[in-house]
Amino acid sequence: MTEKTPAELQVQRAQLIASTGLTEAVLRERAEAFQLYPEHADVWATVEGIDYLLNGAEKLTELAEAQSLAREWEVKYFEQVEKRTAALNELAHVRVMLSAILGVYRAVHSERVSGHQFGEVADCVVCDHAASIHRYLDGKASR
Ligand SMILES: [Zn+2]
Repeated sequence: MTEKTPAELQVQRAQLIASTGLTEAVLRERAEAFQLYPEHADVWATVEGIDYLLNGAEKLTELAEAQSLAREWEVKYFEQVEKRTAALNELAHVRVMLSAILGVYRAVHSERVSGHQFGEVADCVVCDHAASIHRYLDGKASR
């Protein structure tokens, strides 16, 4: 069986109807009342067959559209996952660096300067910064 495109089927359908010398509405009316001449009944059956094929083609087109839409969303989803994963990796890296900075502050400051071992000390930028890093790493950072 040769596959016809929907456009070709539409043309064939129109030609079949025209070949009867009747309008589609009249053919349909007579078909429903079982008043078609046998040759017209054959034509009408073919027209209905074409309609069935066209309806199927339309459904397939809709399905293909839905599938391509789903694929698009899938791509977008994984793009987002990749972006978020990259952002989370970067954040983890930043936290490691902040912890390292605290280690440096401890080594060069709090372990050497008397009275600067216990968190915030007024007017000391190092202790102040160390305290804010602690708050950030503890998840209590305010913006
Ligand atoms: Zn200090």
